[in-house]
Amino acid sequence: MASPHIRLYIPGPVEVSESAWRAFRTPMIGHRGAGFQELYAAIQPRLQQLLYTKNPVFLSTSSAWGVMEAAIRNLVRPGKRVLCCMSGAFSDKWHDVAVSNGLQAEKLQVEWGRAILPEMLDAKLKVGAYDAVTLIHNETSTGTMNPLADLAAVVRKYPETILIVDAVSSMSGVKIEMDALGLDVLLAGVQKAFALPPGLSVFAVSPRALARAKAVPNRGYYFDFLEFLKNHEKNMTPSTPSIAHIFALRAKLEEFFAEGLDRRFARHLEMAKKVRSWAVARGFRLFPQVGCESVTLSCLANARQVDVPAWIKRLKERHSCIFDGGYGKLKGQAFRIAHMGDETPETIERLLGGLDETLEG
Ligand SMILES: *Cc1c(COP(=O)(O)O)cnc(C)c1O
Repeated sequence: MASPHIRLYIPGPVEVSESAWRAFRTPMIGHRGAGFQELYAAIQPRLQQLLYTKNPVFLSTSSAWGVMEAAIRNLVRPGKRVLCCMSGAFSDKWHDVAVSNGLQAEKLQVEWGRAILPEMLDAKLKVGAYDAVTLIHNETSTGTMNPLADLAAVVRKYPETILIVDAVSSMSGVKIEMDALGLDVLLAGVQKAFALPPGLSVFAVSPRALARAKAVPNRGYYFDFLEFLKNHEKNMTPSTPSIAHIFALRAKLEEFFAEGLDRRFARHLEMAKKVRSWAVARGFRLFPQVGCESVTLSCLANARQVDVPAWIKRLKERHSCIFDGGYGKLKGQAFRIAHMGDETPETIERLLGGLDETLEG
């Protein structure tokens, strides 16, 4: 029996449209032929526009963690250190990943729901020489968005320090001007705000970071940034990529630019505002610190002590939708509603209607 279609309002993967699936099932082509090179070359300028960069934008057939691990492996020299900005499940884990790669990793840790502030980062960078800083722009586990521009300005005072930014759940939903901010690596998986199926990641790398990679031995092969660059120059990827994803990405980028990036960013903000005011009016509280709320998902403190799993079950049965009951240690305490990708203020209003209808049982 076919399983029913349950609409996803969890923060990734999110709902994938019929048009994206149609593009995904384009007849297959070889990855070393002219057809693929044309496909790759066609999407490159669009990706650069989306990231506001002149840097090459690479395609990795992996989830985002592949590139997150690769970035620290490629950019931290032996005997040098990486500073991990930690404020939730994903950013905390990036430190574990650095340690498991044998790197000397230091912590800049704040409580979940708090943002990383520029003065905290400056205090760390002033006293320690770091080869790289890892920063998550939009900490999906807590719904907190870090002040990226101010943090990047701090790192740019330290010319030896490479800034690696995970924008997994914000890229394409929020304007991030890679070159103007001076970011060295900007990465995302496509199953969040791009609203594509999981399995492909997009990442851009600055000339400074590519130069650094040359000084780092043992970068491996699959995720070697210099292999990506070498192949990029021929409009190719180092190994066979998920070509279906790249067809779907091309179609998706056409949709982004048909809508217009500014309109796309405004739509995401409008959806966020709708969910926030709905939540506050129902007696919930935003979990992140005031002023640092994510634009692509809302993490709401369960101030009413609702039985969240039972609520999700009712929503699923009666409205064929689900949201998220809280990440890791926040389960029960906070729940998350994603409002990104192809969602619109209208679809979000429908969801909120369903949430109201199922809240009390
Ligand atoms: C989802 C997410 C990740 C992990 O992505 P995978 O695709 O599972 O590797 C990392 N960082 C952030 C901020 C995320 O939202």
